This record gives sequence, C-alpha cells and structure tokens, in this order.
Amino acid sequence: MYKLGFQSWILRKHLPWYYAVSLNERPAKYLLCRRLKCDLDLNDASYEELLKEHEKLSKEFLTLWEDIKEDRVKFKELKIQNPSFLDLKVKLVDKILEKCEFCRWHCKVDRTKGEKLGTCQLEETSRVGCYFHHFGEELPIRGCKGSGTIFFTSCNMRCSFCQNGDISHDKLNGIPISPKLLALMAYQLRMEGCHNINFVGGEPTIHLHTIVKAISLLDFMEPTEEELYYILRAKSEFYFLYKRSKENAFYQGEFNVPLLWNSNFFMSHITMKILREIIDIYLPDFKFGSDKCAIKLSKTPWYFETVSNNHRLVYEWGDDMLIRHLIMPNHVECCTKPVLEWIAKNMPDVLVNIMDQYHPEYACDPFSVNFDERYAELARRPTEREIKDAYNYAKSLGLNFELLSYEKSVYSYKV
Ligand code: SF4
Repeated sequence: MYKLGFQSWILRKHLPWYYAVSLNERPAKYLLCRRLKCDLDLNDASYEELLKEHEKLSKEFLTLWEDIKEDRVKFKELKIQNPSFLDLKVKLVDKILEKCEFCRWHCKVDRTKGEKLGTCQLEETSRVGCYFHHFGEELPIRGCKGSGTIFFTSCNMRCSFCQNGDISHDKLNGIPISPKLLALMAYQLRMEGCHNINFVGGEPTIHLHTIVKAISLLDFMEPTEEELYYILRAKSEFYFLYKRSKENAFYQGEFNVPLLWNSNFFMSHITMKILREIIDIYLPDFKFGSDKCAIKLSKTPWYFETVSNNHRLVYEWGDDMLIRHLIMPNHVECCTKPVLEWIAKNMPDVLVNIMDQYHPEYACDPFSVNFDERYAELARRPTEREIKDAYNYAKSLGLNFELLSYEKSVYSYKV
C-alpha cells in the first residue's frame, strides 16, 4: 500500500497506530469495541447509567488496546459481544441527539423532532455532499491510493472564508443518507484501496449519530443494486476506476479500516469521550489565536478554550494526530503565532501542517455575490513575507512542521 520508503518511516515513527491499522497489521479500534461486553440492558438504561457504563468500558478498552499493541492478547481469541461497547455508543449518541450537545454550542434541541433547530440548522437526517479517493490530503494520509474522504454537509462554525462553502453553508447539498448507506460508502472506498476513511465536511461532529451507527455496521457488505445506484450519485469519480479487493481491507477475516476525524475540533466533551475508542487518527484544525478573531471571522464564541482543550486531550491520550493551521492574510501576528506558540508549549513533538494555500472564498471573495466588506482584510492571498514569517516562527519554536508544510508550499525552499 504505502510503497515509498521515506513515507513509511515517517508513518512508523509519528503515526504508528494509524499506519499499522492502515496496513491491516492491527485491528481498528472499533473492532476492539465490539469485543467488550456492555453489562447494561440498553433498552432500559437512563442517560446517567449509559455514561457510567461508558466510563467503565473506556478503562477496559484502554487496557485491551495496550495488550493488542504489545501482542499480549490474541485478537482471534476475543469474542464479539452482544451488547458491546459499540452498541452502547450507538445508544448514547441517540440519547444525546434528543438534547443535542455534540458540539460546544450545547444547543440542547431535540433533533429527532426538528421543531427547534440548533446552530448547525440540522435535524436528524445526515447528508453527504460527495465521497471519493482524496489525493489532496497530506502525504501520510493520502498515500498512493488516496484517503477515503466523505464530505458531510453543514457546519457548526460560520467561517466567512470557508474553503468548502458549497458544502458547509448549504445544508441541502448532496444526498440524504442512512447509517447503512454511509457504511456502504466507507466499505466501497476501503475495498478500492483507500488508506483510511476520512470523515470531514462541513463538519463531521454534527453528524456524530449517523457516523457512530455506520461504524457499528462496518462489516463485509455487498450493496444491493438499488443501494449502489443511490450512493454513486455522490461519488465524485468513476465507479470503474478502482478494482475492489478484500486484500485491501481485512484483518484476520474482518473488515478493517483506520477511521480519521478531520474536524474543526469545536466539539463538546462528551463527543470527545465517544470518539476516543473509535477514532484511529485525528486531523484537527487550529485556526484562531484569539476568541476575538474567532468571533469576528467565524461567529464562534469560546473558540480558543474549547479547541485547545480538545487538542490537549488527544495529545494526552497518546493518539495519533496531525494538526493543520491555515495562514491567513493579516492574521499572522494575532492567530498564526499564538497558535504555534501554544502547540510548541503543549505538544512540542506533534506533526503540524502550516498551510499556505489560503485564497479568498465565500464572503471574503471580492468576485463573489456573497462578498462582505467587513471581511476585506481576508480578500487576498497571504503574501510571501507573511508565509515566510510563519515558517520562520515555527522553526524558531522547534516545531515539527517542515515535513508536511513544505510538501506543497510555494515558498518553503526559500525560507
Ligand atoms: S451539533 Fe452543535 S450546533 Fe448542532 S444542534 Fe448539536 S450542539 Fe447545536
């Protein structure tokens, strides 16, 4: 799969769990969740009881995960449980959806009824804008066969400069999907050789219920003709381009794929807890250095505290992660530098991609009907000087950024 020697070395060193699952040398976390027994009657349990059982099983999961990593336990000897830790997570997300707090807005609206909508403007149904083999992600993520990326519609932030505005600002983009159809999309991508399933948007957090249920269904699955015809409406590439093979996707007889959370990280604490035992690698954005900029450019309060806490949590858990920061014009001093400083202080060895590809989009694009004068400061590309300033600052802080950032940068080699 990953044929390039240097790339393999990076992956083994910095993203060891992700790499092992991607190569089917280890089972994805969700396969372990299936093997932990839930002792509750899920039909009767209250929210508090579900949380308590989740806490208990989370501890058991961590022990099992270490044992699997160290080859102290044989996967083959672990029995699938009913109900399992994964079933418990499904029940939990269903309960949360009735008083939604998937993200930091904590709207507490009942999305199953849809009478009142939260900030994301979503009811229960999830929609997928498109899905495909993504070759634009970072090298360790896209490999040679692409990242199996699934784009969900709508978002919980309101970024004036959104680079995916057609999906995140249009909640009716794409096709409505059930958990089963989502699982089929993921299955198809992995069987075609994708190195991971990359949940992105918009924002995946606001679709947590559909995603967790889809994960619980991941297995050997052949779509009916009708299902295939339906999901292919959202596939942005020809179906016949890739050969499907079990060789790409199985670990000891079970469908296996690393799950990647590609998110703005504006998530609630309970969402973080639910993700911990099912996500194999995180790809979080860290956009703003201050709440002032987050409110002005994304209409998002409590940004820095929420997002930095979530980054710190993943780092403390010891999970594989790769942080993205987009350099924005006129925001190097107030955003780029404080973000890089925070990373250097709190997680100095983490992989960082400092991206220089910002271009004016949506409300920041002077040629768009959506252009808004209030965002005129973002109506241009960052200058060479701003980009070099960001890179030099990252260098002075000793950050691990060159590997990923210079790959696509226009200016990197002149820094
Ligand atoms: S996902 Fe976030 S924005 Fe949407 S209803 Fe839930 S808490 Fe509100």
